[in-house]
Amino acid sequence: MSGGFEDLVAANQKFADSFSLKGFDGVAKAGVAVVTCMDSRIDPLGMIGLKPGDAKIFRNPGGRVDNSALEALVLATHLLGVERVLVVPHTRCAMASKSQQELRQVIGESAGQDASWQSFHVIEDQLDALAQDVAKVRSHPLISDRIKVAGFLYDVDTGLLNQHQ
Ligand SMILES: [Zn+2]
Repeated sequence: MSGGFEDLVAANQKFADSFSLKGFDGVAKAGVAVVTCMDSRIDPLGMIGLKPGDAKIFRNPGGRVDNSALEALVLATHLLGVERVLVVPHTRCAMASKSQQELRQVIGESAGQDASWQSFHVIEDQLDALAQDVAKVRSHPLISDRIKVAGFLYDVDTGLLNQHQ
């Protein structure tokens, strides 16, 4: 076993002592899925008034609709009760403020070795990328036209979602 996780395991013990999520199935109770960034400033449930059990959350750097996100949304809309999909990139995202070359350089310095082979899916124009990502979900042959899809930019300084798609 790997050390250094004691504080988190202790916190988990407390969490389990008053565990309240027992008996849930895997269905998204509010019928919602959110694709968003891994950024720690984002509370994907809290920002739309939801709680555990309500929604499917898919996160990656930048909050992009990549193949893995599409796989999740196909499953979520057919098997897990999802009827509305929100795609939510955010302001001041690192993936939209650095070039791939800059990221490779910074990571390379941090790692102490060459990082030029590592892909970083940087975003040149967030709103353009959001339009493309929403279109990918809407046009997916295995995601029904009945599913509502919208694109928002989340403002990490105000907590507000601004709809663009
Ligand atoms: Zn981000």
